[in-house]
This record gives sequence, structure tokens and C-alpha cells, in this order.
Amino acid sequence: MKDQIYQVAIDGPSGAGKSTIAKKLAEILHIDYIDTGAMYRAIGYKIKKKNVDMYDEGTLHELLADTVVDLHEGRIFLDGEDVSSVIRTPEMSKMASDCSALAAVRQKLVELQRHMAKSKSVIMDGRDIGTNVLTDARFKIYLTASVEERARRRYKELLEKGEAVTLQEVEEDMRRRDYNDSHRQLNPLRKAEDAVEIDSTAMTMDEVVERILNIVDGR
Ligand code: C5P
Repeated sequence: MKDQIYQVAIDGPSGAGKSTIAKKLAEILHIDYIDTGAMYRAIGYKIKKKNVDMYDEGTLHELLADTVVDLHEGRIFLDGEDVSSVIRTPEMSKMASDCSALAAVRQKLVELQRHMAKSKSVIMDGRDIGTNVLTDARFKIYLTASVEERARRRYKELLEKGEAVTLQEVEEDMRRRDYNDSHRQLNPLRKAEDAVEIDSTAMTMDEVVERILNIVDGR
């Protein structure tokens, strides 16, 4: 297994713990972690910064043709600028969710994600990894948790970062994103038929990591 290339796909709604868990697993398994949500956030950030109308096809096409998104050692770069911190705000969550429904955005990022996973072992998290980006991934996990618990976790994170939000706002935002992500026409969030579902509501992050390691080690 050590010498073989394999892919781990983790999908699920916002706040289920995907990125925390994927990062830990990548470290333990010595493979690359690809955070696809950060890529949608980076595009959303550029749309906002350039103040362009993303619903105007020509304008969006031009912007995307002139955009380079890159992941390197856990940081995300947009046209060479490290945007890892600025994309982690509630406003950028919304921008990412909105722009991720657009075909041109998905097409660009899905192509890039497949390319990134082509010749090395990776763990990739997002919404459509098991169902669309890496349909042949050796391991597929669908990680979920109740919306209340996910909102509590995200609220705590935002407070620690000094964001002025209320739990109610975070929960409303989460429900809205859940709805958008699972009802959009293109690659909506859903569990791949061959994915193992893990409900992390009453689990610690370490317990989830352990559970996934058992799946990957039981290969
Ligand atoms: O995972 P994260 O919350 O950072 O993702 C931000 C948004 O990007 C999601 O709400 C979703 O709309 C979008 N996304 C997506 N497909 C992915 C990853 C993220 O549509 N594979």
C-alpha cells in the first residue's frame, strides 16, 4: 500500500469536521491534503475583490481565464497571493457557496482538482469528490453531523478568531448553505453510493480519525 497511489474522498455538509480530520489523516498517512472548499472560497474572494458581476458569463469567463489557484503546504494562493486567512469569513463562505453553483467555476476547479490528484496519493475534501471529482477514489467517506452541532462548532471557531457573530446567525447560515449545496443543479452535495457514512455528532475528532484510519488500514 505504501508504494501504491490511492485517493481518499471526504464529502459532507459545512462544519462536519472534514478539513480538521482530513488534515490529521494526511499527516498520519503522509499524503497530500487538498481542500477544495478553499479553492471555491478563493474564486469567491476574487469576484468580490474585483467587484465583478459573476452572473455575466463573459465577465466571469475573462476573470477565470486570468486566475491561478494553487495549494502549497497547507496554504492557498490566488494569483500568487496567500489568501488562506482572508477566505475564512462568513462573507466568503457565502461567496463560495454562490459562485460554486456556476458551471464555469466548477469546470475550472474540478479540472484542477483532478489534475492535482493524478499522480500522487491524496486526501481531498469537499461536496462532490466521491460523486464527481474522484469517482474512482479507493476510499470514500461521507461525514455528517446534526446542523445544531455543526453550527456550535463553527460558532466557537469564529469566536476564537474574533468574529462578531451570534450562534443563531451561524446556524441560519449553515442551513442556507446546506440547502444551496444540496439543491443546486450542478454536482449537488450527496452521499456517493459506495461511501461509508460517519455521523460525527457525538464523536470527538480523534474518534473520527481513528474510524477512518481503520477503514484505510483495513484495505
Ligand atoms: O468546505 P467549505 O465550507 O470551505 O466550502 C465553501 C463552499 O464551497 C461550500 O459551501 C460549497 O458551496 C462550495 N464547495 C463546493 N464543492 C466542493 C467544495 C466546496 O461546491 N467540492
